[in-house]
Formats: sequence, structure tokens, C-alpha cells
Amino acid sequence: MTERRVGLDHRDPMLRPFIEVEAKIVRETVGEMRAGGVPAREVVNEVAELVQQDAERAANTMSERLSGGRRLPLACVEGCSYCCWTSTVHASAPEILRIGSWLKEHRSPEELEALTERAGTAAKQIASLDLTGRARAKIPCPLLDIDTGRCTAYEVRPISCRAYHSGSVEACKKAHDDGEANPVLPIDPPLFKVAHAHGFGMMTALASEGLDVGPYDLAAALPVVLASDLDERWLAGEKVLPHTRLSEDAGVGYEAVLGELVADLREGRLDVAEGIARRLDPEARRKDRNRRKREKRRR
Ligand code: SF4
Ligand code: SF4
Repeated sequence: MTERRVGLDHRDPMLRPFIEVEAKIVRETVGEMRAGGVPAREVVNEVAELVQQDAERAANTMSERLSGGRRLPLACVEGCSYCCWTSTVHASAPEILRIGSWLKEHRSPEELEALTERAGTAAKQIASLDLTGRARAKIPCPLLDIDTGRCTAYEVRPISCRAYHSGSVEACKKAHDDGEANPVLPIDPPLFKVAHAHGFGMMTALASEGLDVGPYDLAAALPVVLASDLDERWLAGEKVLPHTRLSEDAGVGYEAVLGELVADLREGRLDVAEGIARRLDPEARRKDRNRRKREKRRR
């Protein structure tokens, strides 16, 4: 197995608050839903929707603020899809489970059958490819409508797809035509990094609860989530999705990073955002002091 580095610096002080905020929101949400006996499907859907909305909102806000109103004009438009042919889409387990249940709710049995067949073929082709082989093979994402270039699961697409963008369609076309695995594209860094930081926050919270987060190759995992309902087994701590050679390699790096973030969360080293909020709002600091005093008295 070849270990691959994770493409986000989880120690970057600019990104830690985003990781922290999402980790705490997801941990609290999942804790409350589990304690309330909410069905596993709803927990999975809530986590996936929450993180995707937070990631998009925060990424756009930071991009706007940091660019001083001069954001990189994006070349991404509906129907443009070079990136859906060559990119490996690694997504967290809850996001993939969510896509599976959404498709079952929104597609006819005939459409699901055709999709399952397409996804099964793609999964077999992808299983043993390395990064370069994957890009050169140009296997379209099974969720791509090849005729229109549209994503057929746009509403529930994972953070990897939401964060991916480019300022030049020519650069994307060249990467597609040349089968480049890691193309250099003009990007807006906050859009990419802040969105992924939220993804790491969500994965940190779930990993701290003993849940498997992956990530997994979306195309290769699709046939499995279309074939069965796996939410309950996943929420019980099982590993329910299959790895490819590439996702297994990536998993080594993710495991190391998440291990560190989980330890930081548990031991209070992931409290940057809380610290900033307290400095900005003295009233919050007073309330927090009182809360701590009350907690001390209760012990
Ligand atoms: S990233 Fe590139 S290929 Fe994908 S939608 Fe944007 S411009 Fe098109
Ligand atoms: S999920 Fe949608 S946006 Fe993402 S690669 Fe597949 S078709 Fe493209």
C-alpha cells in the first residue's frame, strides 16, 4: 500500500476554527439525535446536509471577505463537466449513504436499475487503478448525465464536488484531454480549503464517536449503497463501504490526521474558535465563567 498525504493542513491556524466549529456542531447534533432515539437514516441525512450547507456558506463568506470583493471569476457553469471524468471523488461515509438514500427516494426503479449497472461497471474498472491510471482511464462519475453534462445528484453532491472549481475551463479541458491526475488550475483557495476544513470537522466528530468516516471513492461505493440500506449498521460503528486501491492509500493519511484531531478535540486543544468568540464578546466570557463555576460546584 502507498500512503498518500492529505491535501489540507489541519494545523493551519486559519483553518482550525472551521474544523472546530463543525466538529462541535456535529458531535452535539449526533449525540442529541442518538439520545432521542432518532432513526439512523435521519441522523445520516442531518449530518450530511448540515456539513454541506455549513461548508458552502463559510467557504463563500471567507472567499468574499478575503478577496476584498475581487473574487476569482469562476469558469464553472451548468453542463461543464470535464472534472467529473478525471477526478477521483473521495467522500465521507455519511455523504455517500445520504446520496444512496436520496437516489432511492428520487429515482424510478428503472432509473435505479440503469444507474446500478453503470455504477457496477465503473466500480470494477476503478477498483485497482492508481491516481494516474484513474485520471487517464477517463471513467465518468456514474452520477453524471453524459448527454447534458449535468450532475444527477446535484442537491446532495459531496463536499469534494462542492469545493472543486476552476477559473479556466481551458485548463480543465486540457487536464481532461491529457488525463492529468493533479492538474494545476487557477483556484480561489478559501473556497477549497474552508469547505474541506468543515468536512474534516464533521469527520473528526464522527471518528471521536467511533464511527467509520472513510473517505471512500464515491463511484466505487455507489453500487453498495444502492443495493442495501446501511445507515443503521454504519451508526452502530460498522465499516459498510468498500475501499478501492486509491481510497485505501488515502485512508492511511486520513487516519493519521483524524487521530490527531480527535485527540485535540477530546483534550481541549481544538478550542480556537471558542477562544476567539470569548475575546470578541466579553459578555460571553462572563457567561462562560459562570457556567464553569456552576460546573465546578456540581462536581
Ligand atoms: S472545475 Fe472545470 S470542468 Fe469542472 S465545472 Fe468548473 S470549469 Fe468546468
Ligand atoms: S457527484 Fe456530480 S458533481 Fe460530483 S463528480 Fe459526480 S457528477 Fe460530477
